[in-house]
Amino acid sequence: MVIEKKQLIEEVKRVLQEVKDPEIPSISIVELGMIESVHIEGALASIQAKPTFVGCPALDIIKKNIVSAVKKVHGIEEVEVKYVYHPPWTTDSISQEGKEKLKVYGIAPPPSKHTPGEPWEIDCPYCGSTYTTMENIFGPTACRSILYCRSCKNPFEAMKPVANI
Ligand SMILES: [Zn+2]
Repeated sequence: MVIEKKQLIEEVKRVLQEVKDPEIPSISIVELGMIESVHIEGALASIQAKPTFVGCPALDIIKKNIVSAVKKVHGIEEVEVKYVYHPPWTTDSISQEGKEKLKVYGIAPPPSKHTPGEPWEIDCPYCGSTYTTMENIFGPTACRSILYCRSCKNPFEAMKPVANI
């Protein structure tokens, strides 16, 4: 039985929804805007992904997770994952749904409009207050920072904005 190529691409995209960022388990790499393209050639799936934050150690893990997820798709035997740097990933690539999930996880989504050099204004993911302070620019990973909400007294994490350079 020949499976339609288009159908295969849809199926591959569907399983990619299940691949999570290892550091933020509630959000998928699709929601993060990491998937640039999916190509199918026979039984080979070629996936182009955009790395999120430079310096994030998770890229190898994500690659492995993509390969094992996509290999489960019926009709796919080989999976190739390439990281592409152009066009660059920016925090604007995160889908609206992805941003909501970040909030649920206690991570403030990056501000959508950010001018490099300007301080960024971040809403507390718990109460929405903008009365927040930067506690530690170096969070647990290179991609996140620790902030503190002065309204509800909760510490929270924020993703650092990455702008098009
Ligand atoms: Zn708050």
